Amino acid sequence: MTSASRSFTTPDPDDRCPCLSGETYGGCCGKYHSGRQQAPTAVALMRSRYSAFAVGNRQYLLDTWHPSTRPAVLDLDADLQWRRLDIVDTVAGGPLDTTGVVRFRAHYRAGVERGIQEETSSFTRINGNWLYVDGE
Ligand SMILES: [Zn+2]
Repeated sequence: MTSASRSFTTPDPDDRCPCLSGETYGGCCGKYHSGRQQAPTAVALMRSRYSAFAVGNRQYLLDTWHPSTRPAVLDLDADLQWRRLDIVDTVAGGPLDTTGVVRFRAHYRAGVERGIQEETSSFTRINGNWLYVDGE
Protein backbone atom coordinates (compact mmCIF):
# COMPACT_ATOMS: atom_id res chain seq x y z
CA MET A 1 0.00 0.00 0.00
CA THR A 2 1.40 3.39 -0.91
CA SER A 3 1.14 6.11 1.65
CA ALA A 4 -0.97 9.06 0.65
CA SER A 5 0.16 12.58 1.34
CA ARG A 6 -0.88 13.85 4.72
CA SER A 7 -3.02 16.90 5.04
CA PHE A 8 -3.26 19.40 7.86
CA THR A 9 -6.09 19.24 10.35
CA THR A 10 -7.01 21.97 12.81
CA PRO A 11 -7.09 20.56 16.36
CA ASP A 12 -10.22 20.71 18.49
CA PRO A 13 -10.04 23.19 21.38
CA ASP A 14 -9.89 20.24 23.81
CA ASP A 15 -7.01 18.52 22.01
CA ARG A 16 -3.52 18.65 23.41
CA CYS A 17 -1.75 21.74 22.11
CA PRO A 18 0.84 20.87 19.42
CA CYS A 19 3.46 22.91 21.30
CA LEU A 20 3.19 20.30 24.10
CA SER A 21 2.80 22.89 26.83
CA GLY A 22 0.51 20.39 28.58
CA GLU A 23 -2.49 22.65 28.01
CA THR A 24 -5.35 22.25 25.57
CA TYR A 25 -5.09 23.80 22.12
CA GLY A 26 -7.96 26.16 22.93
CA GLY A 27 -6.33 27.25 26.19
CA CYS A 28 -2.87 27.63 24.66
CA CYS A 29 -1.86 28.47 21.08
CA GLY A 30 -5.42 28.17 19.75
CA LYS A 31 -6.51 31.37 21.43
CA TYR A 32 -3.78 33.25 19.57
CA HIS A 33 -4.49 31.49 16.26
CA SER A 34 -8.15 32.48 16.50
CA GLY A 35 -7.25 36.10 17.18
CA ARG A 36 -9.06 36.07 20.53
CA GLN A 37 -5.84 37.12 22.25
CA GLN A 38 -2.44 38.46 21.31
CA ALA A 39 0.60 36.49 22.45
CA PRO A 40 1.80 38.43 25.52
CA THR A 41 5.47 37.44 25.29
CA ALA A 42 8.03 36.53 22.63
CA VAL A 43 8.07 32.94 23.92
CA ALA A 44 4.28 32.69 23.66
CA LEU A 45 4.48 33.94 20.08
CA MET A 46 7.29 31.48 19.35
CA ARG A 47 5.20 28.59 20.68
CA SER A 48 2.12 29.69 18.76
CA ARG A 49 4.13 29.98 15.54
CA TYR A 50 5.55 26.51 16.05
CA SER A 51 1.98 25.25 16.55
CA ALA A 52 0.90 27.14 13.41
CA PHE A 53 3.56 25.25 11.45
CA ALA A 54 2.31 22.01 13.02
CA VAL A 55 -1.35 22.61 12.11
CA GLY A 56 -0.67 24.35 8.79
CA ASN A 57 -1.95 27.80 9.71
CA ARG A 58 -0.22 29.85 6.99
CA GLN A 59 -2.20 33.01 7.62
CA TYR A 60 -1.19 33.18 11.29
CA LEU A 61 2.47 32.73 10.35
CA LEU A 62 2.28 35.56 7.82
CA ASP A 63 0.32 37.80 10.19
CA THR A 64 2.96 37.41 12.91
CA TRP A 65 5.91 37.94 10.57
CA HIS A 66 7.58 41.35 10.50
CA PRO A 67 6.75 43.09 7.18
CA SER A 68 10.46 43.63 6.42
CA THR A 69 11.25 39.89 6.45
CA ARG A 70 7.86 38.30 5.65
CA PRO A 71 8.02 36.01 2.62
CA ALA A 72 5.71 36.78 -0.29
CA VAL A 73 4.67 33.15 -0.47
CA LEU A 74 4.73 30.57 2.29
CA ASP A 75 4.29 26.92 1.42
CA LEU A 76 3.87 24.45 4.25
CA ASP A 77 4.62 20.78 3.77
CA ALA A 78 2.08 18.56 5.52
CA ASP A 79 4.47 15.61 5.21
CA LEU A 80 6.84 17.39 7.56
CA GLN A 81 5.48 16.53 11.01
CA TRP A 82 6.51 18.76 13.89
CA ARG A 83 6.83 16.49 16.90
CA ARG A 84 8.25 18.48 19.76
CA LEU A 85 9.41 21.94 20.71
CA ASP A 86 12.14 22.64 23.26
CA ILE A 87 12.68 26.23 24.35
CA VAL A 88 16.42 26.39 25.05
CA ASP A 89 16.88 29.98 26.13
CA THR A 90 15.13 33.34 26.09
CA VAL A 91 16.43 36.89 26.35
CA ALA A 92 13.95 39.66 27.21
CA GLY A 93 10.69 39.31 25.25
CA GLY A 94 8.56 39.94 28.32
CA PRO A 95 5.41 42.05 28.63
CA LEU A 96 7.50 45.19 29.28
CA ASP A 97 10.06 44.61 26.50
CA THR A 98 9.99 45.65 22.86
CA THR A 99 12.49 43.05 21.62
CA GLY A 100 13.13 39.47 22.47
CA VAL A 101 15.26 36.50 21.47
CA VAL A 102 14.22 32.85 21.75
CA ARG A 103 16.49 29.92 21.12
CA PHE A 104 14.66 26.66 20.41
CA ARG A 105 14.92 23.17 19.05
CA ALA A 106 12.05 21.88 16.93
CA HIS A 107 11.94 18.14 16.33
CA TYR A 108 10.42 16.93 13.08
CA ARG A 109 9.77 13.80 11.15
CA ALA A 110 9.46 13.51 7.38
CA GLY A 111 8.64 9.96 6.39
CA VAL A 112 11.38 7.83 7.97
CA GLU A 113 13.70 10.79 8.38
CA ARG A 114 13.95 12.59 11.73
CA GLY A 115 15.67 15.85 12.36
CA ILE A 116 16.00 18.83 14.60
CA GLN A 117 15.83 22.44 13.58
CA GLU A 118 17.73 24.63 16.00
CA GLU A 119 17.28 28.34 15.66
CA THR A 120 17.77 31.60 17.51
CA SER A 121 14.79 33.76 16.60
CA SER A 122 14.47 37.50 17.01
CA PHE A 123 11.17 39.15 17.85
CA THR A 124 10.04 42.73 18.11
CA ARG A 125 6.90 44.27 19.47
CA ILE A 126 5.01 46.85 17.44
CA ASN A 127 1.85 48.50 18.76
CA GLY A 128 1.72 45.89 21.49
CA ASN A 129 1.91 42.92 19.10
CA TRP A 130 4.89 40.59 19.03
CA LEU A 131 6.24 39.85 15.55
CA TYR A 132 8.84 37.37 14.33
CA VAL A 133 11.76 39.18 12.65
CA ASP A 134 14.28 36.55 11.65
CA GLY A 135 16.30 33.58 12.81
CA GLU A 136 19.76 32.10 12.49
ZN1 LIG B 1 0.54 25.79 22.65
